[in-house]
Amino acid sequence: MASYRVTVIPGDGTGPEIMQAAQRVLEATGIGFEWVVQEAGQAVLEREGVILPERVIESIKDTKVCLKGPLTTPMLRGIRSANVTLRKNLDLYANIRPAHSYAGMRSRYSRVDLVIIRENTEDLYSGIEFQRGSPEMAELVQWLHERGYQNLTTDAAISMKYISFEASRRIAKFAFEYATANNRRKVTAVHKSNIMRFSDGLFLSTTADVAKDYPNIQFDDRIVDSMCMQLTQRPEQYDVLVLPNLYGDIISDLTAGIIGGLGVAPSANIGENYAVFEPVHGSAPRYTGQNKVNPMAMMFSGALMLRHLGEYQAAIQIERAISEIIAEGKFVTYDLKPHQDDRTAVGTSEVADAIIERMRAVRAGK
Ligand code: NAD
Repeated sequence: MASYRVTVIPGDGTGPEIMQAAQRVLEATGIGFEWVVQEAGQAVLEREGVILPERVIESIKDTKVCLKGPLTTPMLRGIRSANVTLRKNLDLYANIRPAHSYAGMRSRYSRVDLVIIRENTEDLYSGIEFQRGSPEMAELVQWLHERGYQNLTTDAAISMKYISFEASRRIAKFAFEYATANNRRKVTAVHKSNIMRFSDGLFLSTTADVAKDYPNIQFDDRIVDSMCMQLTQRPEQYDVLVLPNLYGDIISDLTAGIIGGLGVAPSANIGENYAVFEPVHGSAPRYTGQNKVNPMAMMFSGALMLRHLGEYQAAIQIERAISEIIAEGKFVTYDLKPHQDDRTAVGTSEVADAIIERMRAVRAGK
């Protein structure tokens, strides 16, 4: 049986609890793991003054694969999100966020099966920002005045939307390769090129060009506001969506809501050399230490990691067991119960117990 070295970042808030539950489920597949545990986040920030120590990046460069719990972003000026830094430093340019309907979830929709492919490195997340009152802001406004943008004042702040041809090309290629490898039929590009003609226009035209190399995959595009409406009306009509960073972030929370909540929404951050798997949700800090939150998104992220490692059977084993536990509705956390204060809701570790038990029963042919 294969064995894998995996960097593990337990994360902040409820991260360590869901991580432990996910590690137990991954180990129950019978695959061997050497977990290289690395701390990042608030505790390290308080101790060492950095939220993401260099040794964490080095560890991922060494193991190539990382399972990551959510990290709290401190609301302090000057501290950049560890999540954004990780994605940038490792050039994890593709963020995959599947949204799949599960029987038993409380949702108006039952046949959703779509995959968000979000560009992960640029757009409004490039970090090119100019603060109100700063000399740089005054200089930039002056420069813009000289080019005819007369109505701008320095009593403002600017965040730049940076979209490059190369990043658009590689995310589009990634989306079509993903669609081909996973027997998907259609890729839809999401943009606002009617207003942002140059930045979103470049994203759209580049994606449309890449589409020509994949004649077996249908291609179309939607303006982001219209996409929101269509996703709430007919989500089952969509398959693979490819989006710039900000729209991808927002639309993937929308699709997580459509399938019934963040508790089951996983994600993968993929680059040429490294991959980081994490739930879409954050650290849910108010439930820290209460054995309360849903570990399924973390477990599904682990299953995505197994697929990345080529361990398809093990991934399917976990995904099936979780789906069955959701469908039965018994051993699930509060968020999957009809009412949030349902007394029959179980805790994080009991969900893991039930899933592991189900995997064993399936293997034993019961
Ligand atoms: P959140 O996702 O932590 O919580 C939003 C809501 O969803 C809360 O009501 C929470 O209780 C619920 N929730 C979240 N995960 C759940 C789970 N597994 N089971 C059941 N309910 C769950 O979002 P937030 O409160 O906006 O963010 C908290 C912190 O997490 C912030 O500092 C934010 O920056 C950070 N964050 C980190 C990541 C990441 O590490 N990738 C992603 C999003 C947010």
